[in-house]
Amino acid sequence: MTIEERVANQYKNIDVGNALSIVRPTLGNNAGVALYRLLRLVALEDIIGRGAAGAAYLAGKKLGMSLGLTQLEDFLQLCKDLNIGIIEVPLATENKIHVDVYECVTCSGLETVGRPICHFEGGLIAGAVQTITGRNVRAHEVTCIGGLGDETCGFDLEIS
Ligand SMILES: [Zn+2]
Repeated sequence: MTIEERVANQYKNIDVGNALSIVRPTLGNNAGVALYRLLRLVALEDIIGRGAAGAAYLAGKKLGMSLGLTQLEDFLQLCKDLNIGIIEVPLATENKIHVDVYECVTCSGLETVGRPICHFEGGLIAGAVQTITGRNVRAHEVTCIGGLGDETCGFDLEIS
């Protein structure tokens, strides 16, 4: 690689495909929930503070939109593949969808903190559903396992 190529590569954005290009002959694909939680709940909140909620939501939404999904089934499969949680969709009408996440990767098992905390997941769901429906989607986390002590992390999706 030439110096010019090295400099150009230094500022290359890391896209989804690149990030998921995993080569770890000994350790493989899995690093555990702990690492993700330390990054998301401890490190990110420490640096950005409460603003981490908005940043995580936006990051999730952009990511959800970038996946180019066309069907809800594809999104459910993705959640399964990434082990985000056990997803159920008990309500789906034209303008309102409710999504429940059991065993949420971000918060299941946490000592409750008095606020919903799964903004990344909410954004991811909103972004995916927005792409699938072609309509504007906002997710509100109305229940949260680790944040509020609920059974699921539940997201009301407002579709406009
Ligand atoms: Zn939650």
